[in-house]
Amino acid sequence: MPSSTTPAPVSGATRPGNDLAGRGARIELTGLSKHYGDFTAVDDVSLVIEPGEFMTLLGPSGSGKTTTLNIIAGFAGPSSGSLKVDGTAIESTPAHKRDMGVVFQHYALFPHLTVAENIAYPLKRRGVPKARRAELIDAALATVHLGDYGHRYPRELSGGQQQRVAVARAIVYSPRVLLMDEPLGALDKKLRDWLQLEIKRIHAELGTTFVYVTHDQEEALVLSDRIAVFNHGRIEQVGPASELYERPGTLFVAKFLGESTVLRGEATPEGDGSVVGVCARHLRAPGRLDGTRAAIVVRPERLEVRPAGHEPGAGWNALPATVAGEIYLGSSRKLELTLPDGSPALVREQAGALSDARRGDEVTLTWRVRDSVILADDPEVEAVFT
Ligand code: ADP
Ligand code: MG
Repeated sequence: MPSSTTPAPVSGATRPGNDLAGRGARIELTGLSKHYGDFTAVDDVSLVIEPGEFMTLLGPSGSGKTTTLNIIAGFAGPSSGSLKVDGTAIESTPAHKRDMGVVFQHYALFPHLTVAENIAYPLKRRGVPKARRAELIDAALATVHLGDYGHRYPRELSGGQQQRVAVARAIVYSPRVLLMDEPLGALDKKLRDWLQLEIKRIHAELGTTFVYVTHDQEEALVLSDRIAVFNHGRIEQVGPASELYERPGTLFVAKFLGESTVLRGEATPEGDGSVVGVCARHLRAPGRLDGTRAAIVVRPERLEVRPAGHEPGAGWNALPATVAGEIYLGSSRKLELTLPDGSPALVREQAGALSDARRGDEVTLTWRVRDSVILADDPEVEAVFT
């Protein structure tokens, strides 16, 4: 199973300027599994989350993200494996003693309490004296930019404001970990885009370790120091967004994160790389894959369209193609191409660097060998994504 061992550069240092700032905890999952009867919801997950890191658990519905988060939170016990926080095993520590804040998709504010009373709740449970409570509530409301809303009731707030109150309530006691399960899932896109930036800012201000669940790959790209891609209860790959995008380790990761053209063929090893037969052509790709069904994956912005008959230079691959469609996107243009075997290819051209290609044209599709990756083909991935 390919995975990155390189943690993102993170700072666990206390940030000045926010009264709730503190040092984030290190979380270590080792061989974690969760079974429900015969069904395996989480399957041998190992993951280290560094102090102060923003880690996103990304995957399709049912892939085990929430179950993993619930095990970290203490809402579910693992069937096997270990969970450590700062080196201490906490599988048997009850949820309320784990020093973790939690935010769910549905805000779960107490409707009969004001915003300030909602935020006071976890402080009261911890026996924080009243004067100190008031200071901390002010700091939490200021952090989520709702300074003037303490006296309102949840029903008097918009969905986005209620979710910011839920964040304030989760951070008010300076937990060393903040767990969020699709917190923006119920909000419309504009609000979501803005709150993503708010969450990123709050993370930077607090220094807390964030573990964030989403099925939205764009959201994961915006927010994360690193992303763990889940599929069928397992982690397929862990790494910074750029690494998952540029160097996906499996076809599932390549298809789940961003757009790509997948060229399927038969791999043969050759010196420092592989050659794959696709549409009766030999294509080169970096990396070795020995004598199996292979897929070469290329991102749309790495593909170029040239006139038919164009001869590729050294270090380039080329395939004949037909332009099947054009999509104008303002800052860029997408070209949908069809390859000789009928399979599709997707090219993205930046405005200002558009080719002359039009719908119906015969063209040459070309790309640098080093801008592609070769991966084991996986028929199941085709079933999921088509
Ligand atoms: P995700 O958050 O990625 O959508 P979940 O972790 O919620 O996925 O669920 C993973 C799988 O485990 C799903 O197939 C789900 O139906 C199953 N599952 C989750 N909780 C339970 C439960 N309490 N009993 C039985 N199956 C469960
Ligand atoms: Mg879920």
